[in-house]
Amino acid sequence: MMLTKVDRIQKDIESLAQFSCVEGIGCTRFTYTKEFRQAADYIIAEMKGAGLEVREDPVGIIIGRLEGKNPNAPVIMTGSHFDTVKTGGRFDGPAGVVTALETARVLHEEGFVPECPIEFVALPEEEGARFGGGLFGSRAICGQLKPNELETYKDWDGVSIAEAMKGYGLDPSKAAESQRKPGDIGLFLELHIEQGPILENNKIDVGIVDAIVGLKTFVVTVKGRSDHAGTTPLNMRADTMLAAARAITAGTDKALELNDGTVVTFGRVETKPGAFNIVAKETVFNIDCRSRGLESVDTVIAAVRESLEKSEAENPGLSFEMFESLKANPVPMKPEVKALLHAKAEECGISTMELLSGAGHDAMIMGSLCDVAMVFVPSKDGRSHVPEEWTDYEDLQNGIEIVCRTIKELASK
Ligand SMILES: [Zn+2]
Repeated sequence: MMLTKVDRIQKDIESLAQFSCVEGIGCTRFTYTKEFRQAADYIIAEMKGAGLEVREDPVGIIIGRLEGKNPNAPVIMTGSHFDTVKTGGRFDGPAGVVTALETARVLHEEGFVPECPIEFVALPEEEGARFGGGLFGSRAICGQLKPNELETYKDWDGVSIAEAMKGYGLDPSKAAESQRKPGDIGLFLELHIEQGPILENNKIDVGIVDAIVGLKTFVVTVKGRSDHAGTTPLNMRADTMLAAARAITAGTDKALELNDGTVVTFGRVETKPGAFNIVAKETVFNIDCRSRGLESVDTVIAAVRESLEKSEAENPGLSFEMFESLKANPVPMKPEVKALLHAKAEECGISTMELLSGAGHDAMIMGSLCDVAMVFVPSKDGRSHVPEEWTDYEDLQNGIEIVCRTIKELASK
């Protein structure tokens, strides 16, 4: 027997989807807008209905608290974000918020009194779709807002975060008070849609995340010489595009050879002068490499570098520079919580597999403050950040059910 109810889950998702600024073209709900307020009001009302003590923190994080017998014990926190990308889907973010709502309702119906406090949360600006920063709510909780971020990060109309906060009824000068002390939160457990095809392809009900991948990004600049495309023999060129292409192939081949889930993407290439009949004198490209461990990332990057060194040695006049623009360590999920999630799934006849999270989530930031765990539910055709984004309500319920049972057990001791 399921503790959770699929009709309530469906109603939550459909209700939140209504609070979108573009009717019929996916969900667009940017942080601190009118639609965002409407969604917040819905979430607050549902939380109150589930008997929670509800407050909005200084950056607009909605926190519904179920007090524990020991109010000072580390909090178990669950939830996700409720902002969206532009014309996105109805599940990315809300799936985890609805998990919090439905879990709170189940515990309320049972009259459950936890040992430790449980906090059910809905976070703003995870996507960064309005102000560009992203992971804003979790960064606020972890004290990772950048100096002057509220003034310098602006939307397309030049409205700063601070100005938007005022319009939303918040006092930006108090933003730092969102930060929680180490030890205050024990666990952050987030359900999210997979946003990829692995669960669906393997016909598995629910994914238990093993780790959020680590990543490094680089900007690579290759410099050479422009020449006539017809008159300069191939062996006498310093062709930066060719060197880049070889390096891109070398990096991708190395990632494939590792066969450990490492992915590498070269999503932007720019050449100068950028003409079809002139050898490119400069090529700039980006590398985005992610893996369970940074050793694998370093192995791929080394293969790119080796290839470029070979081009440099073989083509006089060619040189390159690599600049590391971003580095994030992998975030492992708490093994005991993972094991409990598997056990609860088995109890309910729900199939599971472990997978990596290739995308960053609020749980990634929360990992700097407390233990974290994540559950993925299937995404139809692996699609996300598009209006077609879809998860069957029964699939979502499966994920919510095991989160609910896991929280109940963890909060019983
Ligand atoms: Zn998300």
